[in-house]
Amino acid sequence: MKIFLSGNLVDEADAKVSVFDHGLLYGDGVFEGIRAYHGKVFLLKEHVSRLYESAKAIALTIPMTEEEMCEAVRDTCRANALSEGYIRLVVTRGVGTLGLNPYLCDKPEIIIIAAKIQLYPPELYETGLKVVTVGTVRNHPEAINPRIKSLNYLNNVLAKIEAINSGVLECIMLNSQGQVAEASGDNIFVVKNGVMLTPPVWCGALDGITRRAVMQIATDAGITVKESVLQRYDLFTADEMFLTGTAAEVIAVTEVDRRQIGDGFPGGITVDLQARFKEFVKENGVLIQDP
Ligand code: PMP
Repeated sequence: MKIFLSGNLVDEADAKVSVFDHGLLYGDGVFEGIRAYHGKVFLLKEHVSRLYESAKAIALTIPMTEEEMCEAVRDTCRANALSEGYIRLVVTRGVGTLGLNPYLCDKPEIIIIAAKIQLYPPELYETGLKVVTVGTVRNHPEAINPRIKSLNYLNNVLAKIEAINSGVLECIMLNSQGQVAEASGDNIFVVKNGVMLTPPVWCGALDGITRRAVMQIATDAGITVKESVLQRYDLFTADEMFLTGTAAEVIAVTEVDRRQIGDGFPGGITVDLQARFKEFVKENGVLIQDP
């Protein structure tokens, strides 16, 4: 596998970063996960734009334009003959001292990995996921804003540990007010009386690219979509529930904290959106090969 490392495509074995990189020492950096479908990079500009906004929020200047970054992603896919897969874009603060001061890190490191991903077993897309709500509170927006897709994912990792220790694969995180924020690695939607509801990002969610796409797809299909503060009660009493994310795509949730959602099977709107999303990805990507 060829890895893009600060301007060069190098062999996987040579793709190494320094132990003094603040990405490693402090989780100081930002990242993106992007999918390639049918020879196209899905919503590439949107992902790159969010990467630059995350970087701006942590005062990290990426030494490359957004256009150059998009080209680097396409180059990396081509170097690995990738037409279907998962692309991980990472920008670290770079090499510095053992102290915190980010201004002593001269050069951010840019890493692009074009590989494969299988988040959940395919049968879970038929049966739906069981989830629990967890005690790990989603980062307070004035501490580390969850809109920043930073390399510091310990908040999510701690939540994921709770999920796995409870015997499920994913969990729902609440904010410090007890309101629903998101899953450990996905956004959450519920359907109640035919209306699709999702927490506003200020409740502690990443502004998910899949979330945005699904909201647009649903609106175009004539479904009412609203951002709404949700409590655990709204999860327990939902008619349908699903998660959205680059890796997960659209996946139903059929049980929360041992409460069955709807009739215990993926709901009608969820199944419809899964099909529409599959079509949407065909139309909304940037070609990997030059036309
Ligand atoms: N929330 C979190 C915490 C995430 O890490 C992700 C991405 N895996 C998402 C939501 C979904 O965002 P996107 O649709 O942009 O992948």
